[in-house]
Amino acid sequence: MTPIQRIESRATDLGDGMLVRRALPTRARRMVGAWCFLDHLGPVDFAPGQGMHVGAHPHIGLQTFTWLIEGEVRHRDSLGSDQVIRPGQVNLMTAGRGIVHTEDSVSDGGRLHAAQLWIALPPATADCAPAFEHFPHLPRWEDKGCAFTLVAGNFAGHTMPARFHTPLLGVDACSARATTIDFPLDPAFEHGILPLEGEMRIGGERFVADEFAYLAPGADGVSIDLAAGSRILLLGGEPFAEAVLMWWNFVGWSKEAIAGAQHEWESGGPRFGPVPGDGGRRLTAPALPWAGS
Ligand code: MN
Repeated sequence: MTPIQRIESRATDLGDGMLVRRALPTRARRMVGAWCFLDHLGPVDFAPGQGMHVGAHPHIGLQTFTWLIEGEVRHRDSLGSDQVIRPGQVNLMTAGRGIVHTEDSVSDGGRLHAAQLWIALPPATADCAPAFEHFPHLPRWEDKGCAFTLVAGNFAGHTMPARFHTPLLGVDACSARATTIDFPLDPAFEHGILPLEGEMRIGGERFVADEFAYLAPGADGVSIDLAAGSRILLLGGEPFAEAVLMWWNFVGWSKEAIAGAQHEWESGGPRFGPVPGDGGRRLTAPALPWAGS
């Protein structure tokens, strides 16, 4: 069986007490296919008056992908999109050459549980027009007591209708009771499997929540023992020949592309428009890490 790389997520503070566990990128692994960023939010129970509130910030060169498990989050962006995402739904925002968005808990207090991912755009389309899509109904099925949701790509005869720029897979699997699931895999893909709750075993190795298991290309299937009450997220994709550059909220294929976006955001350039109705909350970019830029 293919060797498995174990990747520890690291706790990251998004501010205002919003702690997440980041499984990508890490020193050990930058990407799984085009998936280049993976934050696991919660499950967290906000006190009354508390919630997630992320002010206006820009993106380039990527798609943001939100998979909501519990709670309600309102997305607004510089295209004029205004969309509440609810459990079992996906939001896909294509930044391309530039977009600005905000994210806010709909109600004060209550529970939030989500996965937020970024998908790197390949060089040919990294500069494409921005777009936003909401997917309220995803393919769902049950097998051996396990509930599956296809959040990206094609799997087991199901298709998630979003357009991606490189071949991708995303499957959420959730089981109230202990079970074994056999995932057929595309050998051209690399894969990552993240327990979001509970624990799993692969080839006798145990992975608890936020221990990410990476499988290199070549595997045509994986057998996963899920403990009762567990939920996992399986990601796959064709490996990129080289890792993209990432800085703050920007993904790019050159330092110049990222420095240009940084400068336009800081100077209020036309590429990054306002988020209508948002009231002007605006995040500040940190200094670029490259001397002389
Ligand atoms: Mn964002």
